[in-house]
Amino acid sequence: MDYVSTRGGSPAVPSAEAIRRGLAPDGGLYVPSEIPAFEPEEIEALARVPFVDRIVAVLSRFLTDYTPAELRRYAEEAYGEERFQPAPAPLVQLNPYSDRLWMLELWHGPTAAFKDMALQILPHLLKAALRKCGTEREVRILAATSGDTGKAALEGFKDIPGTSVVVFYPARGVSEAQRLQMATQEGANCRVVAVEGTFDDTQAGVKEILADAATAAELDAAGVFLSSANSINWGRLVPQIAYYFSAYADLLAAVPKEPGVPMKMGERVDFVVPTGNFGNILAAWYAKRMGLPVGRLVCASNRNKVLADFLRTGVYDRRREFHRTISPSMDILVSSNLERLLHEVSGRDAARVSGWMGDLAAKGSYSVDPAALRTLQETFVGGFADDAATIRTIREIYDRFDHVVDPHTAVGFHVLERVSTRPGTPGAPPPRTVVVSTASPFKFGASVCDALFGNGYSRGRGEDVLLQELAAESGLAVPAGLDGLTRKEIRHTAVIPPSGMRDEALRAFG
Ligand SMILES: *Cc1c(COP(=O)(O)O)cnc(C)c1O
Repeated sequence: MDYVSTRGGSPAVPSAEAIRRGLAPDGGLYVPSEIPAFEPEEIEALARVPFVDRIVAVLSRFLTDYTPAELRRYAEEAYGEERFQPAPAPLVQLNPYSDRLWMLELWHGPTAAFKDMALQILPHLLKAALRKCGTEREVRILAATSGDTGKAALEGFKDIPGTSVVVFYPARGVSEAQRLQMATQEGANCRVVAVEGTFDDTQAGVKEILADAATAAELDAAGVFLSSANSINWGRLVPQIAYYFSAYADLLAAVPKEPGVPMKMGERVDFVVPTGNFGNILAAWYAKRMGLPVGRLVCASNRNKVLADFLRTGVYDRRREFHRTISPSMDILVSSNLERLLHEVSGRDAARVSGWMGDLAAKGSYSVDPAALRTLQETFVGGFADDAATIRTIREIYDRFDHVVDPHTAVGFHVLERVSTRPGTPGAPPPRTVVVSTASPFKFGASVCDALFGNGYSRGRGEDVLLQELAAESGLAVPAGLDGLTRKEIRHTAVIPPSGMRDEALRAFG
């Protein structure tokens, strides 16, 4: 299967080349030239097999220049018990009295956020892509991070021969656990740099460097090839599509607690996705297009609610105040992956997509036509939660279900509550709904403790104290990757302005 650029200005390439490059040379994003379909029987069959089989089934439809045996080998290595405990993507029935509400927990990997789901397998896909493309040069991965991609990329690529990683994170825009996870990173091929700016600044910087021919030439002379670990890379999205299939398969296999009823194949399931760069929810949309019975996709934003506004009005406007929130991984005003969705809903009209992206770059906003907006609204509904609502929701979920969720997941629950008050079909039960849980509550110890123990509780208490108290209150264990973080040696201290990013990309390792 070939991949084309959303902007139409680059030649079609095979899957390995799309993954190797990360970004198309014309600055667009690679999308598959066609979307493969699953028959209902194929989806039903997934209910009887383990996670690795499910992910191989999805990966092999898109990554056609990898053999299924090869993909299976990578998946077994990436999603094994040493890395994901107790499982990669467990589906949990949250409300014991209702079979309507479920949670898909995607944070059981090494860095305790959902980014591990793709970034544990991406290094395998990328290394193989280099081999397949005949370039056995060093690949240097650039990653802009709103907090979680950075650590997941570092863990995924650490000490892998022939690779190096440079991570850029917003200096004041991540949680304390996220900062410590990155600043204490080991591995001779890893470099972490704080940038005086927002995630949007770092993502714009990385995209600019990747599309810059002079940088590529300079690195080429040194035997280095640049690529991306952000969700602009197609290799990040395919594994994410797979876990929506896995969630549906688990619902088919589930025996809900009394008085719930088992689900039948074909029943439509809604998904609620805490959203920032639009990668995770876009993967859900692809799953729907492939034939997975998905109803609505609820796009949940924090106070940086560009997407919620866009889905209501058709106007994407980034010219607004940027808010630092307690769900920092979603503090994003430019959601890159929306470009892929617009490409699809505009009937793959690359000229129109280029026009909108040109407007975004030049004016800071664009406006889609009413037909495209209607198509979007058939599937997507947006909403947002500010910090106060997020804190309240963490508390409510704890009170009602005795379960502690992280602030990003809480944003999802709050928005679900808001959109569920709309009238449904009279007499029909509400749709079965899966809230995607994107991070462990332990990654955001201060905010979660404030929600549980009272406003201001975290002030003056160290990170390890908070994590221990959270563990005692919730009955959950501190994830291995976060335990003892404050005692680890700080190895990365550089702070640079956004203008220094290119230099870092070039000279990070001498
Ligand atoms: C990255 C991230 C998100 C947003 O996901 P996108 O794919 O960027 O929309 C939400 N929650 C957490 C915890 C994250 O790390």
